[in-house]
Amino acid sequence: MGLFSRKKTVFVDSDILVIGGGMAGCGATYESRYWGRDLKVVCVEKANIERSGAVAQGLYAINCYMGMQWDENQPEDHVRYARNDLMGLVREDLGYDIARHVDATVHKFEEWGLPIMKDPETGRYQREGKWQIMIHGESYKPIVAEAARKAADEVHNRIMVTHLLMDKTKPNRVAGAVGFNVRNGDFYVFRSKAVIVCAGGASHIYKPRAVGEGMGRTWYAPWSSASAYALPILAGAKMTQMENRIVLTRFKDGYGPVGAYFLHLKTYTENAYGEEYESRWYEHTKALVGDYVDRHPVPTCLRNHALLEELKAGGGPIRMVTKEAFQDPHKETVGWENFLGMTIGQAVVWASQNIDPKHTNPELTTSEPYVMGSHATCSGAWASGPSDYAPADYQWGYNRMMTVDGLFGAGDTIGGTAHKFSSGSFTEGRIAAKAAVNYVNDLGNDPPQVSEQEYQDLEKVVFQPLETYRVGRNEIVAGTVSPSYMLPMNGLQRLEKLMDEYVGGISAHYTTNEPLLTRGLELLGMLKEDLNYLGAEDLHQLQRAWELHHRVLASESVTQHTLFRTETRWPGYYYRADHPKLDDTDWHCFTLSRYDKNSGEWEMEKAPVYHIVD
Ligand SMILES: Cc1cc2nc3c(=O)[nH]c(=O)nc-3n(C[C@H](O)[C@H](O)[C@H](O)COP(=O)(O)OP(=O)(O)OC[C@H]3O[C@@H](n4cnc5c(N)ncnc54)[C@H](O)[C@@H]3O)c2cc1C
Repeated sequence: MGLFSRKKTVFVDSDILVIGGGMAGCGATYESRYWGRDLKVVCVEKANIERSGAVAQGLYAINCYMGMQWDENQPEDHVRYARNDLMGLVREDLGYDIARHVDATVHKFEEWGLPIMKDPETGRYQREGKWQIMIHGESYKPIVAEAARKAADEVHNRIMVTHLLMDKTKPNRVAGAVGFNVRNGDFYVFRSKAVIVCAGGASHIYKPRAVGEGMGRTWYAPWSSASAYALPILAGAKMTQMENRIVLTRFKDGYGPVGAYFLHLKTYTENAYGEEYESRWYEHTKALVGDYVDRHPVPTCLRNHALLEELKAGGGPIRMVTKEAFQDPHKETVGWENFLGMTIGQAVVWASQNIDPKHTNPELTTSEPYVMGSHATCSGAWASGPSDYAPADYQWGYNRMMTVDGLFGAGDTIGGTAHKFSSGSFTEGRIAAKAAVNYVNDLGNDPPQVSEQEYQDLEKVVFQPLETYRVGRNEIVAGTVSPSYMLPMNGLQRLEKLMDEYVGGISAHYTTNEPLLTRGLELLGMLKEDLNYLGAEDLHQLQRAWELHHRVLASESVTQHTLFRTETRWPGYYYRADHPKLDDTDWHCFTLSRYDKNSGEWEMEKAPVYHIVD
């Protein structure tokens, strides 16, 4: 009798299944109810939606708000901003669609109890920067989750979704998902007419700067485990811009945010000798990317680039000049509160390293790369655009539907749409949900059907690591080392080392080339073979095993895309040493991939970038 042989199989039927109850998932759940009054709406989350996802600890600013009620910005302005920051390549239709609706989302947050700071003179929301407004956001996630909880028929917390289910009559149509309860080991079969994937981004596919017992200290949430990409990839959905992984400049060791410091406190950076260094790298950067270096604001990746070049030239450490701003008691308070609302760890790091920013300028550093679709980066699934705005090439179905029928996405899941952040992700969840409701209503008498054989086979696959461990533990040779299984942590460290060394991580100065990428793919292939021998001691480790599966597949996608794009589009995020320059003639386009799970092959293609906004 296996350890969990008495576990149940639980069947959950729904019209709309939302996978992941973070910002986008809560938006999708809320809006599904609004448009689908009679539909059954289910949200499934591997943690607990009360405090799950990247916003778990809270935020200090909402980074995407137009302020149309005061004529501060228009949606077109935001499209121009995101396009500029991503070196020309964004899905303008999708970005515009979010920008035109995002203010209404923020107004709902306020109505639901989120305290938004006000400018005492104008009465408007307190701006941190052109797009950011300041909030007292420690309880941001519970407030948003409450709206989703009230809207859903059922919220299933603590269920890790491992695979999507496909319709047995139409191979390119989704029919649900499977997963397991991380607390009691019950197997879950979700049968649904439409599925909205909102499972966040990916950390820990590259070796982090902090290793050993500190390895959980990353900028992006350590529990963001690439399910948002792996689930659609396995279902055959096309992905886009997976090479556009992001690197962040943050306060050293605590990854504390710098936005409020730059924008609100007006702090600035200098090199080890107190010199301004960005202008020193102007000509060098111009030779690589041309006029993009003259854009305002300077694209995020290029600001990283100047910092990295200065470090390589021996000008480090780079410091944020806080001593001047912190003489103002108000600014000093804002500086500390900025961390207390979202990254308490940074305050603790400073305390432990004797850094009082009033007297010592703290160091900055660049993070390891992450894969996301909602920040200053736009990796993710290739989605159909809004019918009133998207060019014909970007429309094959319902808004935010991927290239698989009935499969929708939002937030970090969807590619091509940078700078949506928390509010834009929630908004995109709402947009996807409205379209999914229409899709379900249009299905009529042709709902998808789940194959019993498919989920029974998947059940064996999902729990195999427990069985592998049960048998293999009798052969342990030393400590935790067994000749017949690999623990999830060992597999994760192997993945991180491989991506770091071959696909442009921190120890390679974010640099790679064709031979490195080709070898990286070979090593990833070997790692994938070995994933069949993952051993899980308990349900917690089983979750780690499936998170690793998802991370490996997303990593393979990143590597394939990086190999395909033979240019360096975003210096500061990564460098193709064999193609060091930006090449607008051949690469002013999106990269698309499709994975065939039967052959293990990736099909790559280019898609046009349409500039809809002047
Ligand atoms: C450090 C940091 C600072 C940020 N600062 C700001 C800021 O100041 N302002 C701002 O507006 N935005 C900020 N953001 C961005 C914002 O947090 C994201 O844009 C937003 O959370 C993305 O929403 P999402 O729903 O795609 O992902 P998430 O909110 O991360 O939600 C994903 C959800 O999916 C669940 N999940 C994952 N895999 C599975 C699975 N297999 N099965 C079931 N559930 C699963 C997760 O547990 C999680 O709840 C910040 C992000 C980070 C990491």
